[in-house]
Amino acid sequence: MKLIVTGGSGFIGSAVCRHCINDLGWKVVNVDALTYAATAGSLASISTHDDYKFYHANILDRAALDEILNAEKPDAIMHLAAESHVDRSIDGPMAFVETNVLGTVVLLESTRRYLTTIDPASASRFRFLHVSTDEVFGSLELTDTAFSEITPYQPSSPYSASKAASDHFARAYGETYKLPVMVSNCSNNYGMYHFPEKLIPLMIIKALNYQPLPVYGAGTNVRDWLYVEDHARALASILQKGRVGQSYNIGGNAERTNLSVVTAICDILDRKRPEPNKPSRRSLITFVKDRPGHDLRYAIDPEKIQTEIGWTPQVKFEDGIERTIDWFLNNQDWWQPLLDGKANPVQRLGHA
Ligand code: NAD
Repeated sequence: MKLIVTGGSGFIGSAVCRHCINDLGWKVVNVDALTYAATAGSLASISTHDDYKFYHANILDRAALDEILNAEKPDAIMHLAAESHVDRSIDGPMAFVETNVLGTVVLLESTRRYLTTIDPASASRFRFLHVSTDEVFGSLELTDTAFSEITPYQPSSPYSASKAASDHFARAYGETYKLPVMVSNCSNNYGMYHFPEKLIPLMIIKALNYQPLPVYGAGTNVRDWLYVEDHARALASILQKGRVGQSYNIGGNAERTNLSVVTAICDILDRKRPEPNKPSRRSLITFVKDRPGHDLRYAIDPEKIQTEIGWTPQVKFEDGIERTIDWFLNNQDWWQPLLDGKANPVQRLGHA
């Protein structure tokens, strides 16, 4: 299997690259524009591997994509390149329209052309997995049933609207041009190499440094948390076993309020890095003005991926958050330079 991963230098993409090379023995070609969200360290363990190759390219660059597809002749594409941060999309939606919507269409076009250049047997085995988010479904009330694959789209933020549009284009290319497309919609990921503008890494670093922990609203928003390595396994499994034209929801069976996530981080850090002369880190929690259009709850019904693909998450939230905190404690040399950078993303509130 030779797989092109777009956005392979990002948080989830790098976990996919590591999993496909280290655990599955696939050849991986990473196509990434190296925006602020790309971090070299996340690929250090495979960057010199014979089965890994990198192209510095933007998915908006049609000529570059055509050249890469011609040269590499992939068996599949996993499309993760995106602008991914909701707060940034509120500050500046156009970058989200450009990369997430237009970039996806450019990639679909390039893939469509590529499939006309390879032999029919290879073309019939080819797969395009478009990686999306549960945020396209909008917000649930606390008592609503979880999102299934047939839940109508109702995005609330410029980010989720741009992802919804890209999902529609991916599906439309499947219907109109018979491109062998599958779509996945996952919940909030967490784990190693998570960029420190997102809720969990931001809170770990701030709590470690005994700084105020800003929580939107009353902290009652509920998210389902998926360990990033479980997600990487799910994506590879969908590529192998998923049905063309279908979408699959991927969840971690771990619905938590933001407040309970932050208090769990406080309690673990109080245990691992005690500050005997200070009160518990829970005292650092400060409630701040809510994000506009903040969805109350996301939840995933995992039935389809479990029964069709045979995938279930392996890592319980309690174990995953402990592992993640250990990783951040042991890898300050990865995250500190990101905080010291010009953009200083940690100054942003940054909920996922
Ligand atoms: P990320 O922001 O960490 O990484 C995105 C990567 O895409 C970066 O390496 C960046 O350089 C690259 N990129 C951005 N614009 C590009 C462009 N125009 N051309 C080429 N490369 C470009 O994102 P992530 O958290 O790893 O998310 C990956 C995918 O998963 C995204 O499509 C996102 O919408 C989706 N997703 C993420 C989550 C989550 O919790 N992080 C949840 C659901 C869905």
